[in-house]
Amino acid sequence: MKFTEIQLAQPFQQALAKLKYETASPIQAQAIPVLLDGKDLIGCAQTGTGKTAAFALPMLHRILETLPPKPPTERVKGKRVHNGQQTPSRPLRALVLAPTRELAAQIGESLKKYGQGTPLKHTVIFGGVSQHPQVRDLRWGVDTLVATPGRLLDLMDQGHIDLSQLEILCFDEADQMLDMGFLPALKRIVAAVPEQRQTVMFSATMPPEIRELAQKWLTNPVAIQV
Ligand code: AMP
Repeated sequence: MKFTEIQLAQPFQQALAKLKYETASPIQAQAIPVLLDGKDLIGCAQTGTGKTAAFALPMLHRILETLPPKPPTERVKGKRVHNGQQTPSRPLRALVLAPTRELAAQIGESLKKYGQGTPLKHTVIFGGVSQHPQVRDLRWGVDTLVATPGRLLDLMDQGHIDLSQLEILCFDEADQMLDMGFLPALKRIVAAVPEQRQTVMFSATMPPEIRELAQKWLTNPVAIQV
């Protein structure tokens, strides 16, 4: 299937053309229409199959479609000035959870590539580095956040992250997050997210624990496998 046959907004078509992506990979061809439709999805897929674009493109598309009008930003000599409020100027609408900083950073790069040419903002947070730049980005406000579970919880507990407006929750490499002992963290994160949301789960393997979680956290998911 060609990307031009998929109902993705113009800026994404342009980004894909620039990246010279013409044909959707099997997982993209299956997942993108389902996710654009707002359905939940559980996907069994390895790295290298194009799974990042499979969840990132529809996520960005859906957020762009309903982006609220731009809040007024003060500018002093061409520089942005923070509104001085403790709460960011835009709510966090989509969250991608990943097991490692490397994967989180890679997903962040993908969001940047696919979201070029849109006003959408994202940031990536993970542990093992200073939290200050991450907190600063969060204070400016982002539409989409990519995070490892531990650092996300830390920043939530410190009041830097509000998940109450979240619309899309995505678990990438869910099996690896469980293997790394993130289940308690994931449970706390899910408890802080609205029940009414779109949930996407990708996993390289489908052990019973993943199926159980999918049953609990996803609603009538479409299952795909590549
Ligand atoms: P992923 O499985 O998401 O890690 O993606 C694997 C690699 O394939 C990444 O470098 C992507 O930039 C690239 N890629 C993903 N989808 C496509 C596509 N439809 N056409 C060409 N390259 C792609």
